[in-house]
Amino acid sequence: MTTINTLPILIGHNDTLLSLYLPERGEGRSFFTRSEKGHIDLPRAKEGGMGGGFFAIFVPPDQLIQPLRRDEVIKTSTGYEVPLASAIDLTYAQRTTVAMMASLSGLEDESNGQMNVVRTVDELRICLSENVLAAILHFEGAEAIDPGLDALEVFYQAGLRSLGIVWSRPNAFAHGVPFGFPRSPDTGPGLTGAGRELVRACNRLGIMLDLSHLNEQGFWDVVRLSDAPLVATHSNAHTLCPTTRNLTDKQLDAIKDSEGIVGLNFAVTDLRNDGWNDADTPLDVMVRHIDYLVEHLGIDCVGFGADFDGATIPQEIRDVAGLPKLINILREYGFDDVALRKLADENWVRVLGKTWK
Ligand SMILES: [Zn+2]
Repeated sequence: MTTINTLPILIGHNDTLLSLYLPERGEGRSFFTRSEKGHIDLPRAKEGGMGGGFFAIFVPPDQLIQPLRRDEVIKTSTGYEVPLASAIDLTYAQRTTVAMMASLSGLEDESNGQMNVVRTVDELRICLSENVLAAILHFEGAEAIDPGLDALEVFYQAGLRSLGIVWSRPNAFAHGVPFGFPRSPDTGPGLTGAGRELVRACNRLGIMLDLSHLNEQGFWDVVRLSDAPLVATHSNAHTLCPTTRNLTDKQLDAIKDSEGIVGLNFAVTDLRNDGWNDADTPLDVMVRHIDYLVEHLGIDCVGFGADFDGATIPQEIRDVAGLPKLINILREYGFDDVALRKLADENWVRVLGKTWK
């Protein structure tokens, strides 16, 4: 049996920086000390075989420190709706983003070579082969970028290599989906003029565009404009779990045609066919989504998205140290070593190789 040490896993999305930035959310834990709280710290990342991943900078609502509107979930007869979050201010977003970028740099320094912020595929490959945690700087929502895109150039120089156009709220570039179940992701208008310019600029710079949280019309605008593989870092199959956050079969077809990738979201609300926020969710629900995604996209276009530190995940996985349980159950369901290596990191590396300059 392949040991987990030969299978570094790249994770499409985590909100660990937010946990560390907001003490109330991270409950004061350190990235370098093994904790029982949250999902990722360096000791648990090593234990679980996490080779690296996209470290998101998410700018919380201005009146922060509150959980992300979970208290505002409105139950309906068939599921739930969450009121759409408000847009946030550019100055506030830039201040918060710069502070969180500084905290990522601080982690890199403090790690004494155990974690590197990577900017090229070569750097990423070296980290994966040398057991150094590879951090890819990602923004979840483009709120810190001015519509003239000056900040995009500056953030690129500072290491930004992946950009989610929106989180689930509107901004100057596009409209994010409000959370809802059961509901179509077609929830509003497409990209703005500035949004179309943003897509072109990201293509030119070689910044990966992340389409998770984007509404369906915005998604199709990107399909028409972008020359890079299409990526949804943490989304699942709408057919199996009809939330606004998941991808319809037509969207999956477009991602396949572009030779892009979908990262399996471990958020139980985006996995379960009842949409419930219940950690008591068996692992075979995750396997069912992987099977479905592989059936529609092919084995080369699926990876793990996770959403560690950003969502309720199945209690059997518990945290990043539980990744081997997912690998093992996939192996039991017939995924061989070649397939598992693709899902674990090779597909992400391939897409980044075609996207980054
Ligand atoms: Zn997200």
